[in-house]
Amino acid sequence: MEGRNCIRCGEFKLWEHFPHHKSFTSGHASACKACIQKRYVERNIVIQETNSALAASLDEVSKKGAEEILTNMGFELYNPENPVYLQFEERMRVKYGITLSK
Ligand SMILES: [Zn+2]
Repeated sequence: MEGRNCIRCGEFKLWEHFPHHKSFTSGHASACKACIQKRYVERNIVIQETNSALAASLDEVSKKGAEEILTNMGFELYNPENPVYLQFEERMRVKYGITLSK
């Protein structure tokens, strides 16, 4: 056998169209190079969109203020008695550099 059917596009293609992949018994990846390339591009687009959505929400935080955003999200703010709140505040401080209490 000189090739196989690609699992993604279903086309029969010669081995040269499949990237080498030592973890597969055939020694080749199960999707053809064209499909892998396409998938890679699509995945990058998803990652970029996720990143810009995150960046946009952080912009919003700095504009409107963390308090308003977080209240809208349903978090109970400025309650130092609440261990969940303290944990949350610590996480926001470490992760995003946002300090909730003054
Ligand atoms: Zn394919």
